[in-house]
Amino acid sequence: MAISLSKLTQSVHAGSVGDSVHKGIVNPIFPASAYDYEGTGETQYPRYFNTPNQRTVAQKIAALENGEDGLIFSSGLAAIMTSLFTFLKQGDHAVLQNDLYGGTFNAVTVEFPRYGIEYTLVDGTNPQEFENAIKPNTKVIYIETPSNPTLTITDIKAVSAIAKKHGIITIIDNTFASPVNQNPIDLGIDVVTHSGTKYIGGHSDICCGAAVASKEHIKQIWNSAFHFGGSLDAHTCWLVERSLKTIVLRVRQQNENALKLAGWLKANQKVGRVYYPGLPDHPGHEIAKAQMPGGFGGMLSFEVQGDPHAFMDRLKLIKRALSLGGVESTICSSVRTSHAKMTAEERAKINVTDNLVRLSVGIEEADDLIRDIEQALVES
Ligand SMILES: *Cc1c(COP(=O)(O)O)cnc(C)c1O
Repeated sequence: MAISLSKLTQSVHAGSVGDSVHKGIVNPIFPASAYDYEGTGETQYPRYFNTPNQRTVAQKIAALENGEDGLIFSSGLAAIMTSLFTFLKQGDHAVLQNDLYGGTFNAVTVEFPRYGIEYTLVDGTNPQEFENAIKPNTKVIYIETPSNPTLTITDIKAVSAIAKKHGIITIIDNTFASPVNQNPIDLGIDVVTHSGTKYIGGHSDICCGAAVASKEHIKQIWNSAFHFGGSLDAHTCWLVERSLKTIVLRVRQQNENALKLAGWLKANQKVGRVYYPGLPDHPGHEIAKAQMPGGFGGMLSFEVQGDPHAFMDRLKLIKRALSLGGVESTICSSVRTSHAKMTAEERAKINVTDNLVRLSVGIEEADDLIRDIEQALVES
């Protein structure tokens, strides 16, 4: 797009091709898996990631991330692992932060050794650790900020500057922040990935993923993506496009609610540690303020007294569930869900304690959510 448009406008309009037959104002669903291959320039096919609905969504997410181009995948991990395996091969080394999303941690620690890829896990809050871990064969630095579930903040600008100095590709998982709050490409990151199952889908009913980067890097990722085959079908792409039209409104409300809840939890005697980057005493607060201009996000974690499962059982409005980023507030125990496969020792290193609960704040009225938590804390 030639003129620079705001995120609100991009979320509604970017990537849509319209309905040239009936003049409807909404982008149609193009379900075809077979296309004429003569005279079209490139052959369209779902696993080539180039059918109309796939391109619409990819372009909308790329516009929201200030990236040149993008690819839409069938899951977040499809986007993440395809991106990692694009830039890593046998004999290479990667530096990753240690408090990764559990699914990514499992994938990396199981799959990398099988393919002869070395890796080092470092403390994401200390950029120097990334530089210290670099070896002659280091090809990728991978970060995730805010992290899951303790919302640690990695200094994106500092890490990408280190990577650039050494000619290393940087990949970020931007799921928790969403493209509304944080745009890592502006801060020097090469490849932005998302679990679109979360804020991009936003209604707890879609599984998808995305990668956004320069045209050149997307071309490289595409060269692996169409081999690995994690493409998304037209109907789901259309739903993702529809979801994205309200992402800015949803995430703004989630930011506002989470900030209010975090402040309330912090002041409550019955609550232990509260993790939210919007709180002034969060160790990454100043960096978060600088690199998350849209807001601090809708995710927060806190420690309850006693049995966290009994606390969650008493909640009436907030639902216990795996996953996050929906319009409805959901809560889970990280020990039982995303970090279940880690050893107690590995969890202790990243502050994932047994009484920690992770809250994904929805778009409900914040005071209703506070009342729900209050009554669940009171009864014992
Ligand atoms: C859910 C999630 C993923 C994985 O995404 P899927 O869509 O489940 O494959 C990766 N990173 C983060 C931060 C997530 O929350």
